Amino acid sequence: MSDKLFAGLAAQLQERDAAGLTRRRRLLETAQGVHIKCDGQTVLSFCSNDYLGLANDPELINAWQQSANIAGVGSGASHLITGHHHYHELLEKALADFIGLPAALLFSTGYMANLGIMTALLGRGDAVFADRLNHASLNDAAVLSRAELYRYPHNDLSALEAMLKTSNAPRKLVVADAVFSMDGDLTPVPALLALCEKYDALLLLDDAHGFGVLGKEGRGTLSHFNLTSPRIIYMATLGKAAGVFGAFVAADQIVIDYLLQNARTYIYTTASPPAISATLIKALEIIKRDESRRVHLQGLISLLKSGLQLKRWKLEESVTAIQPLIVGSNEEALALSEYLLTKNILVPAIRPPTVPKDTARLRISLSAAHSEHDVAQLIQSLNDAESEMAA
Ligand SMILES: *Cc1c(COP(=O)(O)O)cnc(C)c1O
Repeated sequence: MSDKLFAGLAAQLQERDAAGLTRRRRLLETAQGVHIKCDGQTVLSFCSNDYLGLANDPELINAWQQSANIAGVGSGASHLITGHHHYHELLEKALADFIGLPAALLFSTGYMANLGIMTALLGRGDAVFADRLNHASLNDAAVLSRAELYRYPHNDLSALEAMLKTSNAPRKLVVADAVFSMDGDLTPVPALLALCEKYDALLLLDDAHGFGVLGKEGRGTLSHFNLTSPRIIYMATLGKAAGVFGAFVAADQIVIDYLLQNARTYIYTTASPPAISATLIKALEIIKRDESRRVHLQGLISLLKSGLQLKRWKLEESVTAIQPLIVGSNEEALALSEYLLTKNILVPAIRPPTVPKDTARLRISLSAAHSEHDVAQLIQSLNDAESEMAA
C-alpha cells in the first residue's frame, strides 16, 4: 500500500481524535452483568442491553452446554444447504407463536435481519419512510435497497403522512424502531399502522428493545399495544433482553416465504450454531414464565425517576429500561460519565453522531439484575454530581 494512502487514513483518524470522537473499547474480564470488572476496575454497570439479566443465567448456560453436546458447536453450512437444524426450526415456531404472527425466520444478527428484509422487499423506484431516530442498521438497509429514502422528524406522523400522500412508489415501507434505542420512548404503533393502511404501505417495526420487556409475558411492543396486522413485519433481536445472540423476523407466511427465497443476509451466510437456538428456546420459556423480572425492572424505573433531584440535567420520558439523562454538551456528558467512574459506576456518555447535536447524554440502562440498592447508589451519585460539578 502506498504511503499516501496510509497518510490519508492517519489524517482522518487524527481529525476524529481532535474532535474528541475517537472510540475505544473497554476490556471486560468477567461475564456480562451488573457488577463487572472492566478495564481492571470493578464497577456497578448501567450499560448493557441485558434487560432481564439473562446473559449469565445458570439455566441458560446449562442449556447451551447440553445442546452443544448434542448438536456440536458449529452449524457447518448455510440454512439452505445443510445448516438448518431442528433447534432452529423449533425456535422459529416458538417465536412466531410468542409474537402472535403466522411465521418467523431467524437471522444471525439484527443488523443482518434489517439489511436482509429491506433489500429483499424493496428495489429501485420503491420508497422507504423512516423515523429520523431509527437505528443505523435500518438506515443502512434503506440505502442498500436502492429505494428512495424519506426520513420524517421523530414520531412526527403528520410529516410522515405528507410524505406518504405525495408518493406514487409501487411499494411503500414505513420503518421505525418500536422502542428508540437512545431515547427509550415508543413509536405510536397504532397511528403508524393506520397511516400504513390508508396509504397501502407495509410497516416494519424493529423491536430490539421492546422484546422480552414490554407486553403481556414480555411478548413485545405489538402485545403492549394489543394489535396485529398482516401489514406488520416484526423484527426483534435476541442478544438484548433474551440474553443470548441473534435476531428474527415474524410476519405473514407469504412474507416469510419471500424472505427465505430473497433475503441475501439469510441465504449467503453460515447458519448460527444450533446450540444458540436451543439456548434461546429456554430463554423464551424464562421470559414467558418469570413475570417477576419485568415487575422488578418496572420498580427500578420508578425508583430512578422518583429519586433523581436534578435541575441541570433531565431524564427523558421513557417507560422502558432505557433511561437517558440529557446533559447537552459533549464535554459535560463525558465529565459526568468520568465523575461516576470515580464512584465505580459505569454509565456511558453517548455523543453525536449517535444522537443529535447538543443532546449528548448518559444512556442509563436498567436491568432486572440490578438491586434497589444499586439504583439508589446511582441516584445518590448523580444528585451529588450535579452539586459538585456546578461548584
Ligand atoms: C441492537 C439493535 C440492532 C442490531 O441488532 P444486533 O443483533 O445487535 O445486530 C438493530 N436495531 C436496533 C434498534 C438495535 O437496538
